[in-house]
Amino acid sequence: MLEPAAGLSRLGTETAFEVLARANALAAAGRDIINLGIGQPDFKTPEHIVEAGCKALRDGHHGYTPAAGIPELRAAVSADLHRRHGVEVEPGRVLIVPGGKVTMFFAILMFGEPGAEILYPNPGFPIYESVINFTGAKAVPIPLYEENGFSFDAGEVLARITPRSRLLILNSPANPTGGAVPKAELDKLADGLLAHPHVAVLSDEIYGQMLYDGRQHVSLLKYEALRERVILLDGWSKTYAMTGWRMGFSVWPAALFPYAERLAVNCHSCVNAAAQYAGLAALTGPQESVGRMVKAFDDRRRVIVRALNQLPGFRCVEPGGAFYAFPNIAGTGFDARTLEQKLLEEAGVAIIAGTSFGRYGEGYVRFSYANSTENIERAIQRIRLALAES
Ligand code: PLP
Repeated sequence: MLEPAAGLSRLGTETAFEVLARANALAAAGRDIINLGIGQPDFKTPEHIVEAGCKALRDGHHGYTPAAGIPELRAAVSADLHRRHGVEVEPGRVLIVPGGKVTMFFAILMFGEPGAEILYPNPGFPIYESVINFTGAKAVPIPLYEENGFSFDAGEVLARITPRSRLLILNSPANPTGGAVPKAELDKLADGLLAHPHVAVLSDEIYGQMLYDGRQHVSLLKYEALRERVILLDGWSKTYAMTGWRMGFSVWPAALFPYAERLAVNCHSCVNAAAQYAGLAALTGPQESVGRMVKAFDDRRRVIVRALNQLPGFRCVEPGGAFYAFPNIAGTGFDARTLEQKLLEEAGVAIIAGTSFGRYGEGYVRFSYANSTENIERAIQRIRLALAES
């Protein structure tokens, strides 16, 4: 009998990929499936970025790069952070990683062990809880509530900190809720954290350029007093429609950077060389495609929120960012998982149960509106019919 390590039995998953597999299987069997499940832009990577990746291959960039990334790209990330957030970040603290998830994995590995506590948003990106459990640390949920627009209350977060807390995970704009934390709340949190110097912060800002109604993103890097304990998670996946390229970056406190780099050497050696040149073109080239994509998401956001609020049993707060709507479905009489399955099997619409994002997601489902307005409208129509027939 093989005896895998105990931690593996505690590892969770991202059910979005399972729903995707089921949706694809139904589609392969001839069903017309509208996929509002998977969280990735439905746009192609802009042409100049694709071209830069192809050119890098033709130019012979086929070998290993430095583990932390090519120097030009680390410098470009630093310049981009300055352009977007007005902060100075030495390129020496920037690590290029294969996707946003890797930063999350490394940060949680760095602080997670039996006896440690790690705070994370719930409902939230499911991999936070999964990896915390894997390390044997205690996963301490920060419940997010609809009444708050799925932002958090700084006082509630601070109240959960104990002497055993090692890492606090934040995500704004958020998956799965679309919640965006207002600056005033971040200010309060940053102030309060001064009393807890033993707590590091992982700030997942992968949707930082997707905010609506004039909201401005405030990076945790802006808080100078926290600079030596904030780990920034960001990347190319969402902003430049590059989920399949596997390109992300992190900024680390100086004391943690050597560990992050060492984890990279142990884990993946370096990121695909050609993809790094594509990432460089993304940051240094024209940015119009980002604005166009966010404008399209904003238009669809309005369509989907209005339509969801007209569905019997549904109630949806306006998401402030990302490309997700997270309606309350308590009025339908179904729990989240049953509704997810029913809508996929009976209506051919793939969505994700809120419970896939933690126990505080019960009573909600996630719609990704990274799909055409036409498909969103068709999906809502089908849901209306499926609910009327049940
Ligand atoms: N963080 C959040 C909140 C996400 O929603 C995702 C992807 O869905 C990631 C990180 C991971 O991004 P990547 O695909 O670059 O690994």
